[in-house]
Amino acid sequence: MQFTYSGLPSRVIFGAGKRTEVGRELEMLGIKRALVISTADQSEICAQFAAMIGDRLGALYPGAVMHTPVQVTEAALHQAAQMNCDGILAVGGGSTIGLGKAIAYRTDLPQLVVPTTYAGSEMTPILGQTENGQKTTLRSPKVLPETVIYDPELTLTLPDFISGPSGMNAIAHSVEALYAEDANPVISLMAEESIKALGSALPRIKADGSDLEAREKALYGSWLAGICLGSVGMSLHHKICHTLGGTFDLNHADVHCLILPYTAAYNREAAPQAMAAISRALGAVEPIQGLHDLMRRTARKLSLAEMGLTQGDLDKAADLAMKNPYYNPRPLVREEIREMLQSAFEGRKL
Ligand code: NAD
Repeated sequence: MQFTYSGLPSRVIFGAGKRTEVGRELEMLGIKRALVISTADQSEICAQFAAMIGDRLGALYPGAVMHTPVQVTEAALHQAAQMNCDGILAVGGGSTIGLGKAIAYRTDLPQLVVPTTYAGSEMTPILGQTENGQKTTLRSPKVLPETVIYDPELTLTLPDFISGPSGMNAIAHSVEALYAEDANPVISLMAEESIKALGSALPRIKADGSDLEAREKALYGSWLAGICLGSVGMSLHHKICHTLGGTFDLNHADVHCLILPYTAAYNREAAPQAMAAISRALGAVEPIQGLHDLMRRTARKLSLAEMGLTQGDLDKAADLAMKNPYYNPRPLVREEIREMLQSAFEGRKL
């Protein structure tokens, strides 16, 4: 057995109602004037947090949007500087957390993050940003949030058409962690446990979004999945989703959700141990079938055609997936990737 494991330092507080500890956690980070950020959709919850932290509020910026455009970061930075903010309180999903990270990358301000989706960005030192229509990704310890409060009560308002795809986005991190080039036993344990937690929680959430126990399980699974994403390298699935999302401006979680069974099927023969772990975690006889069934139960869109793509877009996506070589358990063959995209385009059964 040979492996390298690097732990990522962060403080995690988990539990229903734990958001009330936000003031104390800001104090522990030495933040006296927080810039509180969210999306416009979540401005109400952003205001509730502002009220909760009282005189530790520096400024509010409910302007985060998907894919972290640099102009939005610059506007938030301006607001932070004008109000002398000395830290960031990000409340929301990957889009809000991305904005917080983009500010921290430029200022090194400490971050307290309260995630409200299952994207897992809060556990990674990865920042994706968009400028002039191009999405680029960087890794820096500066962007890893110092403290994260997971309060499952905050996810009760997440509609099922976002909960399902967002949870599948988390499962995708864990699936790719299982067959990563730098996979290690600790991360593989977390990956399998996260697929198990999310795999059982997501159908329950679909049936009843107010099921707090299922919400707890899903958030727990997404925490573990975020650690997996931040700790080991990702492969074909993340590359394809990054390409499709960034180039054709598709919804991040919807793409991950739909594509996952197809990319896993591409790698099936090349990653037998990962496939066995997925089967165990989902309690499925066959791993791809298990992922496909879960996708069909949770997805908002069941084909790339439904997302508005064309055959020509598939050619472009296949070309982009072959650019800048990266590790994948099975060699990357353009025609086979194009065929895989065709299957996802038509929403073929696997
Ligand atoms: P999101 O943050 O855009 O949230 C989706 C929508 O749900 C938004 O309109 C938001 O306002 C709303 N919402 C969020 N929480 C809610 C709640 N509890 N109740 C009601 N509505 C709620 O989407 P996302 O999928 O969480 O994040 C996607 C972004 O995150 C992408 O830009 C992606 O690249 C990035 N991401 C980055 C990493 C990383 O490690 N850097 C990891 C995963 C995702």
